[in-house]
This record gives sequence, structure tokens and C-alpha cells, in this order.
Amino acid sequence: MKLLLIDDDTIDRMNAKRSLQQPGLSTEITETASAEEGLKLALNQHYDLILLDYQLPTMNGLEFLITLRSTDTKHTPVVMLSHSDDDELAISCIEKGAQDFITKSEVTASRLMRAILHAQERHKIESELRNSRELLRCLAEVDALTGLANRYMFERGLKHALPLAERQQTGMALLMLDLDKFKNINDTLGHPIGDALLQEVARRLQKVIREGDLLCRLGGDEFAILVHNLENLELAERLTQRVLHTLQQPLNIEGNSLSISASIGVASYPDCATDTTQLMKCADIALYRSKDSGRNQAHFYSKELHDRIQKRLELENDLRGALQRNEFVLYYQPQIDTRSGKISGAEALIRWQHPSRGLIGPDHFIPMAEDLGLIVAIGDWVLTEACQQFQHWRETFNAIDLQISMAVNLSALQLDDDVLIGNIEDIMYKYNIPHQYLELELTESAVSKNSALSTQLLQALSDRGITLAMDDFGTGYSSLLQLKTYPFHVLKIDKSFIQASSTNSEGEIYLQAINAFAKTLGLQVVAEGVETAAQKSLCEKLQFDRMQGYYFARPLPAAELEKQYLLPA
Ligand code: C2E
Ligand code: MG
Ligand code: MG
Repeated sequence: MKLLLIDDDTIDRMNAKRSLQQPGLSTEITETASAEEGLKLALNQHYDLILLDYQLPTMNGLEFLITLRSTDTKHTPVVMLSHSDDDELAISCIEKGAQDFITKSEVTASRLMRAILHAQERHKIESELRNSRELLRCLAEVDALTGLANRYMFERGLKHALPLAERQQTGMALLMLDLDKFKNINDTLGHPIGDALLQEVARRLQKVIREGDLLCRLGGDEFAILVHNLENLELAERLTQRVLHTLQQPLNIEGNSLSISASIGVASYPDCATDTTQLMKCADIALYRSKDSGRNQAHFYSKELHDRIQKRLELENDLRGALQRNEFVLYYQPQIDTRSGKISGAEALIRWQHPSRGLIGPDHFIPMAEDLGLIVAIGDWVLTEACQQFQHWRETFNAIDLQISMAVNLSALQLDDDVLIGNIEDIMYKYNIPHQYLELELTESAVSKNSALSTQLLQALSDRGITLAMDDFGTGYSSLLQLKTYPFHVLKIDKSFIQASSTNSEGEIYLQAINAFAKTLGLQVVAEGVETAAQKSLCEKLQFDRMQGYYFARPLPAAELEKQYLLPA
């Protein structure tokens, strides 16, 4: 029997040791006078039992027990020795995890031996209790909805699997899976349908995994698959394909035919990580990548992916505070009246002056701002800033002569914001801008995303005399019909068409057709992306109303546009 004796009193220690030196009893005693040393020994070595003096110089027995029980997973039995025979103290010690309490005056060979044996027996019973409690907990934590292992089981499984894989020198893969847009189903069809769908997903997943793999529902619409004995990465690749495929098959749930998909992130041991936390993090990063690249796909973790995502997360984080830190600026690109060759308006284009990355273009952060729910606030800022700038120009450069308009881009999500019209009204009133000078640019997809709502909203804007322009025409689900349905006044032909016109003759025919159609509907036509003299001539020949592009000017800081276009020559 290996014993640890912790007592600062040399005589008491000798006494205890003498009591344990008996024929037929083989004990190996480690002794120490210090509580700290004792704790260290107890945590790092195996002992069958600890004999602990209640009164140690730096710590009393209760404090020692609390520290020991909160850190020691071995649950070594403890017999407390004390000079006091206070019953309450004895009970407190038992409550805090000692198995027995005897007074030092009682210490005789037989009393001490009995205490040790009782303590060990009591300790054994306690351990069994603990184990069955653990088992109960585990049973209770199987996911009730799907019958799959739950997060708790999963984490345990993962914890055991890693050392095993290490010993057996085999690979392992972790697939994290998230259903795409599951929330929509819950929100629109209700939770019972959502639940039934999760059950069906669980059934399908169960069918595609190998025996021995651990499938679990981590919570909500998140699942994980732990693939043991991974011989090669192709195996994981094939599994992800099977998972994606099985989930893409149409579902019928209580009469509702539904289609779903999933995003998957995969990380493998030992290539990506050698500990569980890291492995989960890697799979998560890969999952994030799948969602970010349009969902319904799988990505494998790699260092390069990690760096890219890390960078993106940093940028996202920076973006959250960019508005408060006043880091956005508007550039203005002039639009030229084809007939007069003079400036007829300016389009406000946002840029982000990032403190360390320099000037960032809108394509790199507007979609992110939309994802993060920041676009409405940023859009308000753009409107305010553009109108304020416009007021300044109108006041400084003779309002009567300055018949130019100001174009501002709106995101689709701004159309969901029911205070949009009120905001626009307030801003225009504040900066004293007549409605006909504001032009709002929307893309086709922005409008078609929320049709019922946007028709009303666009009509309301149009009724107020605000000009509506369809931006990037030809890039989305170009529907000429849409142009008739919505109250647009201006059609901005996307730069790709203007540029195609100079490389093939069909391009020109196409432009002619769009132009004719737009004119029939009474729309003004603006050519975007005019870069060369030839393109400009073509716009003139086709009698487009306005032109915009690098041939005339790139988007410019306000002061620069003033200097080049507004100041009298
Ligand atoms: P857009 O509204 O179609 O703006 C025109 C884009 O084409 C601008 O890019 C402009 O710099 C670029 N461009 C202009 N002339 C030429 C040319 O001759 N050749 C070429 N290759 N490109 C030309 P930018 O500033 O990077 O903006 C990109 C897009 O970001 C915009 O496309 C617009 O959809 C969006 N955006 C810009 N500002 C805002 C904003 O304040 N709010 C929202 N929601 N979106 C914005
Ligand atoms: Mg635009
Ligand atoms: Mg455009």
C-alpha cells in the first residue's frame, strides 16, 4: 500500500509511521511536512491513501481538501488526523471529501488500520456512485430529438479517439455540418416541421456514414461526424460528397416538399491539428469557408485557408467599428451629358479608408456589411454625406446654373428597412435638396429579391419625385419585364456591355436593342464604364443620354471633382 503522510509535527509523523509498521502489512510511506509539497505529490503521483494532518502551518485540512478535490481527478481517499475531537469539524471534513476523521490521541495501530480500511471501502462505494451518476448523465444527454449522440458524447468521443489514433498511428477526420437556411424553414413552416426535418436529416446521415464513425447532433441544425481509421483523405472527400448528395434529395415532410442543403467543414488528424480543441477549430474554419462561398459545399481545412479566413475575420471586426471611427469616404464620379458634353451629375461611391490596409473598394466590404447587418447604418451615412456634399456644391456653385443630380447606390437590404423613406425625406429636408436632384441606384437583383415590398416602396419614392435608376443592367436576371413593373426612370447599362461592344459587333447590336427598348418605355439610358474614345463615339451614335467612365474621370474625392468640373474655367 502506497501512503502519503502529510503532517508538520515530527513526533506525530513518527507515531503514525510506527503504528503502520506491522508484520504482514507492506506499506510504502512518503512523508512531508508541508501542505504545498503534499498537494504536489498527491496530484502527480499515485497513492492508495493520504493521511492528512488537519492543522498545517500554511493551510488547514479543509482548505487542503477543497483544493485537492477540485484539481485531483484520481479521487485519492483521505483520512484526516486532528488534535481536536470536535464533531462538527469532523463532519465538515467528511463533507469536503475526507473518507474518515480520527483524533491523534486515538492513533493506535489497530485504530489507524481500521480507519484506512474503512476509508478505502467508502472510497470504492463513492467511486461506483460517481460512475453510475456519470452514466446516467451520459444517457440523459443523448439527443432526444434525433436519438443521435449529443455534444457531450461527441466531445467525449473525440477526447478518447485522439489518443487512440495516436497509439494506432491512424488518421481521423472531423466533419462539421450546418444546414443551410434552416432558420427559414423553422420560421416559415413552424418548429414541428423543423423538428421532423432534423429527424429525417439524422436518418439520412446515419445511412451514409461507415460503421464505427460517430455521428452526432451538436445542437440546432449543427451536426458532426467523427471518422475513425481514416486511411486517406479521399475517404473523407467521398463521405462529404455522399453527405451533400443525400441531403440534396427532395424531402417530403407532412405534405410539404422541401429542399435543403448543407455546408460542411472538414479537418483531419494529424495533418491539421493534434489536439481536440484545435481540430474542432480547424473544422469550424473550413465550415465558415463553405458558408462564405455560397453554401451547399464542403471545404477542407488548410493553413492557407486559415490565414485567409483570419484576415477576413479581422476585416469584419474592423468593419464593425468603421462607421464610429469615421473611416468611410465618398468619391464622386461625374456623369457626362452626351449631347452637351458637360457634367450632368455625379455618382457617390463609397470607400473605406482602413487605418492599416489603405483605401478599400466597396466590392470588398459592402457584401460583408450586408452579412453583418451594418449596411442600413452605412447606407444612411452615405445618403447623409452625399446630400450634405451636394448642398455645399449647390450653394457654392450657383444653384440655378448647377442643374446636376446626385446619384446614390442603395443595397437591397435598405429596401427592407421601413424607415428608409422617412430617413430620405429628413435628409433631403435638412440639406434643402429638391427631390428631382436625387437619383437612387438599385440593381435588378436588389429589386427582385423582395418584389411585393419593393414595388410599393419604389412607387412611394417615385411619387415624391425621386429618380430611380436600375444599375448594372444586364448582369442579373435581366428581365425587361421588370423594367415595366417597377417605376424606374433610368437604365444604367453595365460596363461589360460597353466593353464588349468594342471587341465584337454583336455587342453593338445588343446595345442598340436595349436602347430602343428603354426609349420605348420612356427611360433615360446611361452607359457605364466608358473607357475609350471609340466607346464614347458609339454612345454618341446610339444617342445614349449620359456616359460615365474612366475615359472622362475615375471616381474622385469631392475637392477634385469640384476643381475639375465645377469651378469656372
Ligand atoms: P456601381 O454602382 O455599378 O458603380 C460603378 C463602378 O464601376 C464603380 O466601382 C466605378 O469605380 C467603376 N467604374 C466606373 N467607370 C469605370 C470604367 O470606365 N471602367 C471600369 N472598369 N470601372 C469603372 P466601385 O466604386 O468599386 O463600386 C463598385 C460597386 O460597389 C458599385 O457599382 C456599387 O454597386 C457598390 N457601391 C459603391 N458605393 C456604394 C454605396 O454607397 N452603397 C452601396 N450599397 N453600394 C455601393
Ligand atoms: Mg451605381
Ligand atoms: Mg453599375
